Amino acid sequence: MKITIIGTGYVGLVTGVSLALNNNKVVCIGRQTKKIDEINEGRSPFFEPGLDELLTKAVNNKSLCGSDQLIENVKNSDIVLIAVGTPTVNNKIDLSQIEEVAKEIGKGIKLARKYIVIAVKSTVIPGTTEKIVLPLLEKYSGKKLGKDFGLSMNPEFLREGNAVEDSMDPDRIVIGQADKKSGAHLAKMYESFTCPLLFVPIKTAEMTKYASNALFATLISYSNEIARICETTKDVDVVDVWRGVHLDHRLTPSQSKIVIKNNRVFPGFVSYLFSGCGYGGSCFPKDTKALDAYALELGLEPGIISRVISINRTQPLRVVALVTSGLKKVKGSRIAILGLTFKENTDDMREAPSLPIINELIKQGANVVCHDPVISVRKSSAVTDLGAILVDSAQEALKGSDAVIVLTGWAEYKKLTPSFFKKHMKNPLLIDGRRIYGKDMLESGIDYRGIGYNKK
Ligand code: NAD
Repeated sequence: MKITIIGTGYVGLVTGVSLALNNNKVVCIGRQTKKIDEINEGRSPFFEPGLDELLTKAVNNKSLCGSDQLIENVKNSDIVLIAVGTPTVNNKIDLSQIEEVAKEIGKGIKLARKYIVIAVKSTVIPGTTEKIVLPLLEKYSGKKLGKDFGLSMNPEFLREGNAVEDSMDPDRIVIGQADKKSGAHLAKMYESFTCPLLFVPIKTAEMTKYASNALFATLISYSNEIARICETTKDVDVVDVWRGVHLDHRLTPSQSKIVIKNNRVFPGFVSYLFSGCGYGGSCFPKDTKALDAYALELGLEPGIISRVISINRTQPLRVVALVTSGLKKVKGSRIAILGLTFKENTDDMREAPSLPIINELIKQGANVVCHDPVISVRKSSAVTDLGAILVDSAQEALKGSDAVIVLTGWAEYKKLTPSFFKKHMKNPLLIDGRRIYGKDMLESGIDYRGIGYNKK
């Protein structure tokens, strides 16, 4: 099928590559010429493991290209996917990007000679597709939903860092359909996929995405609340606590084909039941806030979601508290930060916990020196604007430091040894914001403290 995707970010481009390599012809619409040129040369404008290779393949076999011609491409498409951003502004969802593209798509539908389905892939609160997107499509096309075009909401569940695999081999595809014809037409795009397809009303599809993201965010904030209790209790390490919790058969069954570790299956969701410095990125923070605001608008009291958000907002400060508990004086000290991105295997810095932590340390008078394997000086303005310095290696960041804080669980940091820290640091105070090391670091002469464990 001929597919036009509006938005060449993590969702738009990865989805485009996946659909192009599954018997479709895809055009990815962007606004910046530089990004479009990069796509047409087979290079992703952002870091996502495995993407460049597959993008090159799709471009070379002419099943995918980038373009800035939205109306022209919509006009000739079977399906149009909307994958633009839906940020939160003042804690509420901002639909301006969706509204802008809905108008342009409407102009394309006006010129089209065949049936097209417009599907919203962006995360939007229930009601958006039918109450905001549809009226704009009808107004700008002068056509009515049904005969000339169809409407769907098709939420995306990919995870940055694992996006290619998630998109090529999804667990399920949820198709919210305005009518059966729209759903059946969209499903043709997924003909080569083998996972279950769920056909539901559009608002159910919109809500499914929020219920999913809010669940994972809840597991993280719950884990961090438990960490706070452990940190404040003498001699309790949250990592030991989670080991005891995880080995319950209801969480980690012992018979399965999937990931088996010590004869146990560790389902993916168990990794969210682990303490750290809080969730970040472009989804959980904004989606929990949008869901909270939506529930309030409905006259409900979203107690759990509100608390999930507030725990996450204050969790970075727990990391700062661990540093101050180990340093005589923060003012004038040199603090190394290892890891800036909100998680490993992505270059996404949106809502990364590193930002409020660096901000607070600088406010308290520290000199902050950072390293991240994928954040180059060119992309570092988010941290340098706060007054921190970015260097090229972990070793350089550690040089002469009074403390180091690990904020992203990159594989290269997991390999660092106690002797490495002792060799390069002035004072080996190690704050583990991701619990990637064990407290046995203490036996090697490291002053080790971490989320969910503070020695007394
Ligand atoms: P992104 O910010 O990486 O990409 C959005 C892109 O849309 C940007 O490149 C922007 O320039 C482009 N855009 C905006 N208006 C445009 C226009 N008028 N014409 C052409 N392009 C335009 O965002 P993302 O991370 O890809 O997320 C997109 C949507 O998918 C959001 O609603 C998000 O919540 C949802 N989502 C994201 C993820 C994720 O992991 N990133 C996962 C699932 C769902």
